[in-house]
Amino acid sequence: MKRLNIAIAGCGVAGLACATLLRRQGANVVLFDKLETPQPLGSGIILQPVGLRVLDEIGAGDAICALGAPIKRLFGKAEPRGNVVLDVRYAARGKNAPCGLGVHRGALFQVLYDAALGAGAEIESGRDVVAVRDGRLVFADGVSASFDLVIDALGMRSPLSGGAPKPLPFGALWASLDWAGGFDETALEQRYRQARKMVGVLPIGRLKGATQRQAAFFWSLKHTDRAAWLATPIEVWKDEVRALWPETEPLLAQLGEHDDLVFATYAHRTIGDPVSRECMHVGDGWHCASPQLGQGANMALLDALALARALDTQSNLDTALGEYARMRALHIKLYQLASWMFTPAYQSDSDTFAFVRDWIMSPLSRAPPAPAVLAALVAGEIGAPLKTIDARPRRRSA
Ligand SMILES: Cc1cc2nc3c(=O)[nH]c(=O)nc-3n(C[C@H](O)[C@H](O)[C@H](O)COP(=O)(O)OP(=O)(O)OC[C@H]3O[C@@H](n4cnc5c(N)ncnc54)[C@H](O)[C@@H]3O)c2cc1C
Repeated sequence: MKRLNIAIAGCGVAGLACATLLRRQGANVVLFDKLETPQPLGSGIILQPVGLRVLDEIGAGDAICALGAPIKRLFGKAEPRGNVVLDVRYAARGKNAPCGLGVHRGALFQVLYDAALGAGAEIESGRDVVAVRDGRLVFADGVSASFDLVIDALGMRSPLSGGAPKPLPFGALWASLDWAGGFDETALEQRYRQARKMVGVLPIGRLKGATQRQAAFFWSLKHTDRAAWLATPIEVWKDEVRALWPETEPLLAQLGEHDDLVFATYAHRTIGDPVSRECMHVGDGWHCASPQLGQGANMALLDALALARALDTQSNLDTALGEYARMRALHIKLYQLASWMFTPAYQSDSDTFAFVRDWIMSPLSRAPPAPAVLAALVAGEIGAPLKTIDARPRRRSA
């Protein structure tokens, strides 16, 4: 294939990963982001083994592992009885099976940004993308530019994939706080009251250049309740959190006002075909889901790897894009379905979902082979996405 001139709209996980891989394969790559200084929003995430494998491929695996916190277990208790209703251990897939990595979004952004710049990608900030028309990328100031290929990596609210989807009823308040004792340093821990209330703590390691370890702290909140939350003194809300999980006190002490927390909305959408005449989609611009299964960034990284492989191995652009869509289709369908099924068990007003979670799903999840299957689901391995993309997993011990 001739040397392609590629525009990547969006400097997030998917965009930066695509830029690095495609630039290394010889394409001319320009990344556009609306932010004046591209930066991640929000707190921390879990990178799953499949996503870490892609970061290895990008050459950023060791850098992110040096910053993040290994996560061996996802653990949750339903209050007030204190019964364990979530206990997924990565090692259930085998003694040496790779585990997850809790990371600060800023740390992930930095290693991906460094990799993209290091590969020679051009980055243009302050460029608000509004459309693609007749093969031209159109910006808010009316300027447009022509490329051989436009990649939509604009995330969940991408104007190139139909704009913001309808939010799910529940989102969450998030904050990155200094790590405090009293929590498992190798686990995502959560406490629930039915599915209406949820508080969680995730170790996320540190930012590049910092020594302070951090935790991502989150509290489930309906977007329709956000205005009332903002209008209530923060101490009233802290009492509610303390009542559910008293050990969060040292984290709550770091929160002085409402603005110390960022509200994130979630949505669930997959656009039918990631490839159109005008552009092709990667990451949340193609498929977004609530983060209950912690897969979004991993899916974005897998999309980037699949696209790079397809462009590298096919001699015709249309065939390559078709191959990209084919490689990712099954894995995306499976995980969109799983996210859609699991989300109400952790975030909904329904007592039925909480009952099913506590008294049916939880006991069943302890009976073999469920622990290994659930661990593989969380690790992002169901549907064998890496095998489909033809990348051999590198081992990182749990
Ligand atoms: C609260 C929360 C917790 C999560 N937890 C996890 C987790 O534990 N594990 C996991 O794998 N995933 C998690 N996710 C999902 C994950 O963050 C996303 O799936 C992932 O960031 C998607 O990457 P992306 O590159 O597609 O989009 P984004 O990371 O959203 O990047 C989009 C980029 O496009 C830019 N942009 C947007 N609009 C425009 C425009 N019009 N013009 C120019 N630039 C624009 C933005 O500035 C941004 O840089 C979580 C998500 C949320 C909200």
